[in-house]
Amino acid sequence: HTKNSGRNSHSFFQKSMNANAQEQLQLMHDLRLAIERNELRLHYQPKFTAPSGPVSGFEALVRWERPGSGMLSPAVFLPLAEKTGLILPMGEWVLNEACRQLSEWHRQGHQEWSVAVNLSALQFEQPDLVEKVVDIITRHQIPAEKLTLEVTETTAMLNPDVSVAILDQLTDLGVKASIDDFGTGYSSLLYLKRLPASELKIDRAFINELTTNNEDASIVSAIIALGQTLNLKVVAEGVETVEQQAFLSRLGCDTLQGFLLGRPMTPAQIGDRISSDWPGHVIPATELEDVK
Ligand code: C2E
Ligand code: MG
Ligand code: MG
Ligand code: MG
Repeated sequence: HTKNSGRNSHSFFQKSMNANAQEQLQLMHDLRLAIERNELRLHYQPKFTAPSGPVSGFEALVRWERPGSGMLSPAVFLPLAEKTGLILPMGEWVLNEACRQLSEWHRQGHQEWSVAVNLSALQFEQPDLVEKVVDIITRHQIPAEKLTLEVTETTAMLNPDVSVAILDQLTDLGVKASIDDFGTGYSSLLYLKRLPASELKIDRAFINELTTNNEDASIVSAIIALGQTLNLKVVAEGVETVEQQAFLSRLGCDTLQGFLLGRPMTPAQIGDRISSDWPGHVIPATELEDVK
């Protein structure tokens, strides 16, 4: 490298950084307006009682239909929403919309279905979370036990004592709690025992190579055994093959979720499925999500 090319690449780097910063700024500006402009969408991914059904409920997953950009995945805008605090109004919108949708499904006769909503750390620790949850389930008249709140293991273990207190209040209402992405954080088993959760969700990372990697197989069977010991339902996320489905079912995993059984989809697509062949195993290519 000559001195000159070094300087050029430096200024090139700065320019692209500026372009990126500019983009982030624009994204933040647009995201702020996305809620009032009604650009947020929820897609729902089914959860199946192992081994192959029935559907027990759905996880609500947020998307942003940004004009000119198409349907954006949470990976694109959630980090920004968390950094700026926009996750709070956004999360409230998600919670309300998921409960509204559930009440609609219940009215249509699917009273056994539940809905799961993801909470970020900031949301989980907001002082009026419990109050907001009460407001929303009252507004939509849904039975508390049909709402599950998913918090990641990492979030739950940030302030374990606080988490226990919050989850105590939520479970007193009857709302269920799920520890998401389990196995990727650092749970103290002592706290895990005290956490009033009703579900462990094994992270996708362990499911990927479940049937080809002995370590992953051992970890997954240990988590399932732990869940059974602690009286927690165990959910596997990211189930993509029939081999994984069979293996998990054999180990006693309660609930399966993944592209094999159902992609995240719109309520309209769910409506189409119920009237046809659900629970089928392979989702036709036309139903693949088009998310960036
Ligand atoms: P998560 O809660 O662990 O959700 C599972 C993610 O894995 C979803 O990605 C889902 O589409 C994807 N997935 C499900 N099955 C499979 C599979 O078989 N294979 C593969 N490769 N992926 C699968 P998505 O929708 O992009 O969401 C990513 C993360 O964003 C979520 O992880 C959750 O942490 C967060 N998130 C999504 N919606 C919300 C929300 O409304 N609020 C908050 N706070 N976070 C959300
Ligand atoms: Mg989740
Ligand atoms: Mg997860
Ligand atoms: Mg995950």
